[in-house]
Amino acid sequence: MTLKKGKDGLAEFSIFIVGLIFGSFLNVLIYRLPQNISLINPKRSFCPSCNTQIKWYENIPLLSYSLLKGKCSKCKQLIPPIYPFIEMLTGTITVIIYSKLGLSFDFIIMAILFYVLTTLSFIDFKYKAVPDYLLIIGLLISIFYSNFSFINALLFTGAIVLLELFVTFYIQNIKYKITQDENLLTQKSMGDGDIPIVAIIGGVLGIKLGIIAIVLAAFLAIIPAIYNLLLKKDIETPFIPFLSLGLFFVFIFDNLIIRILN
Ligand SMILES: [Zn+2]
Repeated sequence: MTLKKGKDGLAEFSIFIVGLIFGSFLNVLIYRLPQNISLINPKRSFCPSCNTQIKWYENIPLLSYSLLKGKCSKCKQLIPPIYPFIEMLTGTITVIIYSKLGLSFDFIIMAILFYVLTTLSFIDFKYKAVPDYLLIIGLLISIFYSNFSFINALLFTGAIVLLELFVTFYIQNIKYKITQDENLLTQKSMGDGDIPIVAIIGGVLGIKLGIIAIVLAAFLAIIPAIYNLLLKKDIETPFIPFLSLGLFFVFIFDNLIIRILN
């Protein structure tokens, strides 16, 4: 990662603010898309508890949240801390990508790609399903990244479909025979939403780094998967957040990882 530091960090600060504003838009997407609420109408955000429209000066990323002490000004209901968290996260992601790519076309592409992946991740966490069109948008955006390889994207898609076939067979047949858990008979090893993300990983990172990103994602997903299984008796763990995290980590630290590998 090469840090292009401005004299006083003003560029980084401005980029962070821009990221915060996009983060506030991602909050709208995460909240409205799965519920099919229009993005244009109602134009302004509203309190999820009392449906009061939020005034523009109450809707400034982070600032309003701290001024309102995390409460709706009308009904005093707590605003879930996930909202400022997503704003902070988006701001941070934007600055990190900027530090790597500088102000370039690739920076814009990768920032938008990770905005889409962030939106998908939080929707996946909440609903364990994601809108198809958002996956397609993510895949289409990644194609514009200058190092994107179609061959690798297709290779990864093929590999993951085959792998899924085997793992699903294992879960539905072998694991079922051992555990006699009826739920397993219909369980697929992955959500269909994971396949386009894996294609993005292959296309953006290439074969070597792409495999590392997916292995990393699998490692990161182990703990929540065990937690879900044991404590919530839930056999499904959303995988898109971990794939996105793996992609982000390997994308940012690609030079370091290549150096370690060689
Ligand atoms: Zn309210």
